[in-house]
Amino acid sequence: MKSKRNIILPYIISCGLILLTTLFGELVKEKIGPTNIVMFYLLAVVFVAIRWGRGPAITTSIISVLFFDFFLVPPYFTLSVADIEYIFTFTAFLIVGIIVSTFASKVREQIMQHQTEKLHSALLNSISHDLKTPLVSITGTLTALLDKKSNLDAQHIRELLETAKGESDRLNRIVNNLLDMTKMESGVLRISKKPCDLRDLIGACLEQLKEKIGCREIKIEIPKDSPEISVDFPFMLKALFNIVDNALKYSPDGTPVEIQADFFQHKAQVRIRDYGAGIPKEDLKRIFEKFYRVERSQNVSGTGLGLCISKSIIEAHSGKISVESTPAKGSTFIVELPLE
Ligand code: ADP
Repeated sequence: MKSKRNIILPYIISCGLILLTTLFGELVKEKIGPTNIVMFYLLAVVFVAIRWGRGPAITTSIISVLFFDFFLVPPYFTLSVADIEYIFTFTAFLIVGIIVSTFASKVREQIMQHQTEKLHSALLNSISHDLKTPLVSITGTLTALLDKKSNLDAQHIRELLETAKGESDRLNRIVNNLLDMTKMESGVLRISKKPCDLRDLIGACLEQLKEKIGCREIKIEIPKDSPEISVDFPFMLKALFNIVDNALKYSPDGTPVEIQADFFQHKAQVRIRDYGAGIPKEDLKRIFEKFYRVERSQNVSGTGLGLCISKSIIEAHSGKISVESTPAKGSTFIVELPLE
């Protein structure tokens, strides 16, 4: 059983974090404006959610709003607000705070059950980093929308909302990837195979990626009259999505991505080829490992989980995934699935 000290400590540290954030806010509020400071409170919420779970994180959200209002929103040292728009800031903060707390603590609970201490700390670093980027962007967008001085026109408001939506989708994908990973590791993942057309699978995958694809050329070669494959459609979609997403992510805009399928007597083979930077030889073996990222990819956002998830899904279908890559020329990921 948890000792009293262990239960109370997160709340004390959370209050300390809020105090520090408020102090920091006091110092910078003239320069960056109160709504921007909300972002730092959100980071405190994310940190607390990941470290101690939902209860302390939601408490942190609520106390943050109170402190923010009391110390940083005019009129100071009262809980009333001069400008009604702050009510939107408070509401948006509480909603984002609660969503993040719920997501982060779900992930945390699963980790607590199934991961070792070492993995736990790697995951913490990875999630806190990858949650931060979209969160900062969402907060920035909300701030711009709330800023009275900016006099945004309808077109601009739409663009900002689209950015916020895109970033929320990204946040959602990261959390889903983490949940899938923990499910797979704990053996909760059950696949249920049904016959399907590879063309439909690739079509659905490209549909999900259509915004990222934009004007990029995707060459698809699938033989006519190819036999059906037997897969769990949503999971295999996820496996292919991660690979095609990488092909787009790690190759420059003007280059094509090729998806080519071949059918042999006992297996279907899908090759996903890009003309990007390629993968150094020494990294080839490790890119399917959890959290492994090639050193020079650090400027592209990612968690190092995508390929590991794809591999687990493909292997759960008794398939195989491999990669061939020439640095500076590009990479080909090869997925093989048995035909029944
Ligand atoms: P990430 O979230 O980092 O993209 P992945 O598990 O999908 O994680 O990939 C692991 C690493 O493998 C990436 O960080 C990247 O360095 C490398 N990688 C994956 N696909 C490609 C590709 N098509 N071209 C070059 N590097 C790739």
